[in-house]
Amino acid sequence: MRQLKVVAMMPHPDDMEILVAGTLLKYKAQGHEVHVVIAMDGRRGRGHLPDSVSAEEIVSIRHAEARRSCAMLGVEPIFLDLEDHRLIEDRDCYEKVITVMEQLTPDVIFTCAPNDYHNDHRCLSRLVLNSAWAPVFFADTACGVDFNPDYYVDITEFMETKLAMARQHQSQFSEDPKEMIEIVNRFRALQCRRQEIRYAEGFRLYKRFEWVKAYELLPHDDYELPEKIVPTTERN
Ligand SMILES: [Zn+2]
Repeated sequence: MRQLKVVAMMPHPDDMEILVAGTLLKYKAQGHEVHVVIAMDGRRGRGHLPDSVSAEEIVSIRHAEARRSCAMLGVEPIFLDLEDHRLIEDRDCYEKVITVMEQLTPDVIFTCAPNDYHNDHRCLSRLVLNSAWAPVFFADTACGVDFNPDYYVDITEFMETKLAMARQHQSQFSEDPKEMIEIVNRFRALQCRRQEIRYAEGFRLYKRFEWVKAYELLPHDDYELPEKIVPTTERN
């Protein structure tokens, strides 16, 4: 496959790590160009920072955490710095999203699911769809609630790095995010029922005219085909 430009358009600092980092690491390992765009400035994600820390300081802490994490992916994040928890579909927000799309000219885009739990996630999902001219994959929702993937990416090899990236967001996590990430990605792997797949990320393709075969753009695997297909009735 030719080198693809892969763009993850994610809302808050830490969403990329939880939802798509394994897939982005896999794209990188397969020689593709990866960009990470973080839409929101993170000012209302106080996490466990004390009240004495100002909103401006939170923004700068969260930028630094995102940079440290993205360095493990080998990319410099692009910050749109839209006001946290206040995203709406207005002209200014749309301009910011479409401008970065025009600059990056992606071949494939990853963003949040339109039914994800947070308004910024749902709104960004719509803004991305309305400004994208490349195929869009929706990432899993928070803890997989009401999300049934179409496609699965085996991220077993990249799980340790994904966890290390998520842990860079120290201001957000009072507990290690390992358990939450492992459970979701292990569950998605179990759905694949392949021994080699220990962890997987799940995605839905936004099925639109011309994009329906975009699953071909997902990172590839070289699994051996099974020797034979055993009927379900014989293996329970
Ligand atoms: Zn978020």
